[in-house]
Amino acid sequence: MGSLEGVATRHPGSNEGIVYLVGAGPGDPGLITRRGAELLSRADVVAFDRLVHPDLLKLARNAVLVDVGKQPGESAPGQQRINQLLVDEARAGKVVVRLKGGDPFVFGRGGEEAELLAAAGVPFEIVPGVTSAVAGPAYAGIPLTHRDHASWVAIATGHEDPTKESSALDWEALARAPTAVFLMGIQRLGEISRELQNAGRRADSPAAVISWATWPKQRVLRSTLEKVADAVLQAADISPPAVLVVGDVVTLNDSIDWLSRKPLLGKRVFVTRTRAQAGTLSEALRDLGAEALEFPAIKIVEPTSYEPLDKALAGLSSFGWIVFTSTNTVDAVWSRLDEAGKDSRALARLRVAAVGPATSDALRAHGIEPDLVPETFTSEALADAMGEATGGSVVLLPQAENAPDELSQRLGEKGWGCVAVNAYRTEVDDSSVAAGRQALDEGVEAVLFTSGSTARNFVELWGQPPEGTIVCCIGPRTERSARAAGVAVDAVAEEHTISGLMNALVAAVGR
Ligand code: SAH
Repeated sequence: MGSLEGVATRHPGSNEGIVYLVGAGPGDPGLITRRGAELLSRADVVAFDRLVHPDLLKLARNAVLVDVGKQPGESAPGQQRINQLLVDEARAGKVVVRLKGGDPFVFGRGGEEAELLAAAGVPFEIVPGVTSAVAGPAYAGIPLTHRDHASWVAIATGHEDPTKESSALDWEALARAPTAVFLMGIQRLGEISRELQNAGRRADSPAAVISWATWPKQRVLRSTLEKVADAVLQAADISPPAVLVVGDVVTLNDSIDWLSRKPLLGKRVFVTRTRAQAGTLSEALRDLGAEALEFPAIKIVEPTSYEPLDKALAGLSSFGWIVFTSTNTVDAVWSRLDEAGKDSRALARLRVAAVGPATSDALRAHGIEPDLVPETFTSEALADAMGEATGGSVVLLPQAENAPDELSQRLGEKGWGCVAVNAYRTEVDDSSVAAGRQALDEGVEAVLFTSGSTARNFVELWGQPPEGTIVCCIGPRTERSARAAGVAVDAVAEEHTISGLMNALVAAVGR
């Protein structure tokens, strides 16, 4: 951890630790606050609950992760031990994040943990989170308030302390609330429904149960107050955690249920790009409602030798063009320029070609606007777009060490002098073999290949994709490599970009 960050999180001038009670949100890792994410990245210790999304823990790069979650019905490791852990670690000078599901102060004992820290004299701060009481209905298209239906809302626990003699809940008030939300109530739906009806709520009041809200396995069950308990018993796919919403606002779900319109809702999609590149692909999948399972099958490493590339970059005046066929080559070229004490100006005299939009964006990030991008994003199209060679102009082609030679051959046929140099090498990334195997065994709907090497390496690491899995390739070259590795390809993107790949996947899932 950087020293500056360390100072910034502690009280100035002291090396006292601190505890942040941070709301993780209801599940979807995008719903944590920026403050929460920032604190995770600085934390020394993260004590997390069971219902915290694993992707959030990846933000805690420097932290010891402590699972303090209890399974339903289980009490370990006990509130006292959690409290003790927070106090001990903070007293040892650590930055501690206590990561809690939803909002830390909406049920879930955040108030008690804060009281204890205050009593122990341990510095602490509260970082609110998106509570499931609000996010669950939001992801089900149910507004909690609405000018025509509800001007106030009640949020209650459906699971009362069983040692209490009489109910602490004011059922009459809850029955009157235009919208009532119950957390922790799934096992007691029958009682909740009876109590509300006894207190005067109509049996046909609209009711909805939202389980695993904001997770890929979110399910929404629409019913009425009278029937909701039976309906849940009957529904195989409703399980805790879940929230119950009662009120007229539930009917608005008819028109504003936005989530279930997503074409890949709940689909598990296996992604095999490098760790560094998986991000944009996974984002695109999540936007469409899918669950992106990231298991990089390749990693980018240095080529056997940088000498040819370095030599070419030192003598750029002998080239007329430089051609970039991937963002990896862009990264490699700039890192070698940087190594030589140069920058983008070294390319000022050259004409620059890029194979597609992602590569173009990578160039633009370095202040270079490509002179040429082919209409379809393949190296074949790129060679065609370059046309016949002009005036003895030589093309510099940095590429992957194990890349096929197609492009330089094609350019040669058109009379271009072409110098292909190795800029990087792809290697099998076996760091997530076991986790990938488990995901495949648990079932995936689709596997995506974005390059020949991702397909080859997938087969090497995990064998053939399981029967019934949709296999989608980003372009014809990837498809050829996949088929050569024995993979049955179901769909190939027409436009060889991430969004083209998404279109192909959506179409294939629809078939
Ligand atoms: N502090 C949390 C609530 C903790 S109590 C919050 O603000 O959300 C645990 C209860 O929260 C569960 O029994 C369930 O009712 C609700 N809950 C938490 N996550 C949920 C989710 N993703 N979907 C539906 N309900 C959820």
